[in-house]
Amino acid sequence: MSNATKGLSLYNTLTREKDVFVPIDPLNVRMYVCGPTVYDFAHIGNARPAIVFDVLFRLLRQLYGGEHVTYVRNITDVDDKINARALRDFGAEIASGKLSLNEAIRHVTEKTADQYHKDVATLGCLEPTVEPRATEFVARRADGKPDMISLIGQLIERGHAYVAAGEVLFDTASMPDYGELSKRNLDEQQAGARIAVDAHKKNSGDFVLWKLSSPEEPGWDSPWGRGRPGWHIECSAMSAAYLGEVFDIHGGGLDLIFPHHENEIAQSRCAHGTKVMANVWMHNGFLQVEGQKMSKSLGNFYSINELLETDTFGGRKWPGEVLRLAMLMTHYREPIDFSVRKLEEAENTLRKWKRAADLAPAAGQLPAEVVAALSDDLATYAAFQRLTQLAGEATDFSGGGDNPAAPSLKAALAFLGFDVGAAKVDEAAVAKAIARRLELIAAKNWPEADRIRDELLAQGVQLKDGKDPVTGERMTTWEVKR
Ligand SMILES: [Zn+2]
Repeated sequence: MSNATKGLSLYNTLTREKDVFVPIDPLNVRMYVCGPTVYDFAHIGNARPAIVFDVLFRLLRQLYGGEHVTYVRNITDVDDKINARALRDFGAEIASGKLSLNEAIRHVTEKTADQYHKDVATLGCLEPTVEPRATEFVARRADGKPDMISLIGQLIERGHAYVAAGEVLFDTASMPDYGELSKRNLDEQQAGARIAVDAHKKNSGDFVLWKLSSPEEPGWDSPWGRGRPGWHIECSAMSAAYLGEVFDIHGGGLDLIFPHHENEIAQSRCAHGTKVMANVWMHNGFLQVEGQKMSKSLGNFYSINELLETDTFGGRKWPGEVLRLAMLMTHYREPIDFSVRKLEEAENTLRKWKRAADLAPAAGQLPAEVVAALSDDLATYAAFQRLTQLAGEATDFSGGGDNPAAPSLKAALAFLGFDVGAAKVDEAAVAKAIARRLELIAAKNWPEADRIRDELLAQGVQLKDGKDPVTGERMTTWEVKR
């Protein structure tokens, strides 16, 4: 037992307490995190769970060994938003018969999933152990792994679901402790419901497991007719497929507690007859942008890709690891206010750490204090304080001789997902950018010239303007600044 705990404590939404983490099987620690719905670029709010649970994944691997942790993050590639997007983007091709709706949907989901993978890799996230796609788990599978249609069948059989008006609905009244995660009381919900209950539902909280599809809509054959699954059932099927009926940790954003996670719990526990679905439920806090809720109507809605590749946020591009650090400077359960100022602060901090870490030719021992800080419910702030301390020690040359701080710092940065490899500067690209900037200066296009200078600086390349000592012409040299 003591061997399995490893000193890790995690806040559990289910108990509303910070609990000592005891894995069911220390040789296979199992975590599931709800992944993206692939119909559009992932926004920066989506980056938060990807980064937070990546840190937890890294910590679990450190504590239990890389081969003893299974991390599943799904891709939701069946959703009415995806169908709508396919019709919007490929309407003409579908109308002319060039593409079927299903082919158009595949175009949308594959392109979006590829983009998501690129985005999160740039944010320093490791790939999860398995990344199942919902569409592969709708119908019965050749390998016998749990699937959605079979799970729904089990729920009907056990008296937890019913068919009405072409839908299969989960019967919330059949589960006495429904609502234990969100602490919502079913009776109160029903008494308080002012809107008329959909006539075909037994209770207003009953939710869709299966619905019929029109001939044009994507659908799968099922005992209840050709249709498609509701939103929640996919995670019950995919987590059971890779992690079993009861597993260790389930994560996601705070906004998923109700209804998504509540309903996942209801489906999984009632289908399998278990007391819990996952022992620990973890949720990251909300994200705001410059003090406001992010929304398309407010014009402060940013995709991860926009921050990485365009200058729409703060007038410049931001390196992925700066976004990563900015996200982790706030404890994962706290709300985060994402701002240009925060990114600048993260960039400065990262530059200081890296400059100090670069004094070491190779990484040394991972500092125990960093692991201990993260083991206290991912106290990233305390871990970062230790990094800053190490950076101070590494650049304090008063003692002389060997200084173990720089190698430790380097190890800690690599562990936390920051790039500590040799500076990768594309010299040809820098030369091209300098030439372009000189043209712009000659044309007196100062803003554009400055933008190029700042962009290079963001990559760690500092320009120095001077005069050629022989010809007296303007010339620009550069150096790598870390
Ligand atoms: Zn889910």
